[in-house]
This record gives sequence, structure tokens and C-alpha cells, in this order.
Amino acid sequence: MQYYAQPVARLIEELHKLPGVGPKTAQRLAFHILHRPEEEVRALAEAILEARAKVHYCSVCANLTDVDPCRFCSDPERDQTVVCVVEEARDVVALEKTRQFRGLYHVLHGAISPLEGIGPEKLKIKELLARLRSGRIQEVILATNADAEGEATALYLAKILKPLGLKVTRLAYGLPVGGDLEYADEVTLARSLAGRQEIG
Ligand SMILES: [Zn+2]
Repeated sequence: MQYYAQPVARLIEELHKLPGVGPKTAQRLAFHILHRPEEEVRALAEAILEARAKVHYCSVCANLTDVDPCRFCSDPERDQTVVCVVEEARDVVALEKTRQFRGLYHVLHGAISPLEGIGPEKLKIKELLARLRSGRIQEVILATNADAEGEATALYLAKILKPLGLKVTRLAYGLPVGGDLEYADEVTLARSLAGRQEIG
């Protein structure tokens, strides 16, 4: 890193920590930023800081939000009897884009992965159970990814949710096996939502 002025080296190092940003991309982004007008760079830096400061987990569904409860949880137009359980906040975006789902969400913030040492206790499952016990929810749609971790998570949840007397369904994956929800096109995702099947 001695090739760079120290502040440039620091910028590259920070950018390199972002997902999908290798050393070359980090360098390219850093030089791009350094060539932009100062006010544009300030706007970028402020957007990052503002988003980080104002966005937190919804106290009900754990989705990312700047208001609590989030806009989904507090929308009276949405079906309060169905909750769709997803791994990440970005999956909510993918499902919303299909325009086929008008229920509520619950974000787990990960999936069960023994290899990575992620057990059920590290996910927002306690919060989901509390919600199901107190609420009007009748159906839980398990919309975890179609990979090994997503399947393990769905099976685990089906096992603990069934005794609560709820309808538990799983997305009918016409999705490519191993595929993440966020990479599925809207038509495929809408179809897998419509074709969901009861499990457990
Ligand atoms: Zn919420």
C-alpha cells in the first residue's frame, strides 16, 4: 500500500471490506471518488452515514426501517393473517417486486448453518414465535432460500411451528436449486409464491 498517499490507501482499504469488492475494484472506486467534485463525494458520505444512523430493525418483523413499526407492519391494507419468513431484508424487496404478496414479513437475518456455527438462537426465531403466539397470524410462508441452509431452516421452523396449529407453507421452488431468492426473476418468484405448498 506504500504506492498510495496514506489517505488513498485508507480509502481503498475501507472499500475493500465491502462485499464483492476485490482489491482492483476498490482501487478503481477510490480513484473514481477522488476525481469527483467534493460536494458529490460529501453527498455520498452523508448518505452512508445517514442510512446507518437512521435505519434499524423493526421491533415487530426485524426488517430494516427508519420508522418503528415499519411501513409493512403498520399498513392496515396488508393481510394481517399471513406472514412470509425470509432470510434477509433484501428478500422482502424481491417479494415486493412481484406485487403478488400483500401479507406481512418476518426477517430472520440469516439461515441455520452448522458449518458456519449459526444455530437457530442466532436468528430472529424467538421474535417470530412471540409474534405468532400473540397475533392473528394463520399462515406462515417459509420463503428461505433453496440451498442447504435455507432448506434446513425451513424444516426446523416447520417442526416448531406445526404444533402451534398454524398453516405452514413453503415456496414451490421453480427457483434454481441453490438459488437465492434475490436472484430469482419476478415471474419465477410470483409463481413459486402462488404454488406454495403445505409442509411439515
Ligand atoms: Zn415490521
